[in-house]
Amino acid sequence: MRTIALDGPSGAGKSTVAKLVAKQLGIHYVDTGAMYRTLGWYLLQEGVCLSDEAAVEDALSSVSATIQFSGGVQRMYIAGQDVTDLLRAQDVGEAASKIAVYPCVRDKLLGLQRELAVRYDVIMDGRDIGTAVLPDAGVKIYLTASVEERARRRYQELCDKGETGFSQEAIQEEIASRDYRDTHRAIAPLRQAEDAVMVDSTQLTVQEVVDRICTLAGG
Ligand code: C5P
Repeated sequence: MRTIALDGPSGAGKSTVAKLVAKQLGIHYVDTGAMYRTLGWYLLQEGVCLSDEAAVEDALSSVSATIQFSGGVQRMYIAGQDVTDLLRAQDVGEAASKIAVYPCVRDKLLGLQRELAVRYDVIMDGRDIGTAVLPDAGVKIYLTASVEERARRRYQELCDKGETGFSQEAIQEEIASRDYRDTHRAIAPLRQAEDAVMVDSTQLTVQEVVDRICTLAGG
């Protein structure tokens, strides 16, 4: 199977790039952040205290999260509900990042992620795909960009959507603290796999990044 592991910090453009690479190469895009967000969304709904690992484990033990591809697009389900369109909210991202430090959460998703890479040709994005989930991936990319540039892009994206009440400085602080949490956690910290190719997108267009990855993947 063809497997491309794409890791990197928040806001580096992983999902934008991965969608386009998947289209160009005719493979599936698997968004593992959406899986963490699905569990985070469920726990918020259930009112579970996210800092209580035992309560999180207990709440997740009897619920199943599943994934389906509809027209090539990943859809996430939990407790039978399609939650795909509810996952991008700020509090859901925060919840995902908080619970991603628990082994019970990571173990629940690991099997699902590996199974998808066995079943399909994939580009899978996340934080630990090249280092832990798919250590034998054919191509590994570590996509990054400066924190200033990532904040600028996110700010622009919110302005384009007509969302107000955010300053670029506040977004930059939020991204920096998410980076810190993702790189300093004891379990599955974000880091570049030794055999990953680093792509710094600060000065590159989306298409330049896509072309670079497709070339590395031989497509
Ligand atoms: O990529 P996204 O922002 O959707 O991910 C949400 C959170 O889920 C991240 O901040 C990270 O803490 C966590 N995550 C992870 N491992 C992954 C994907 C996401 O720990 N493979």
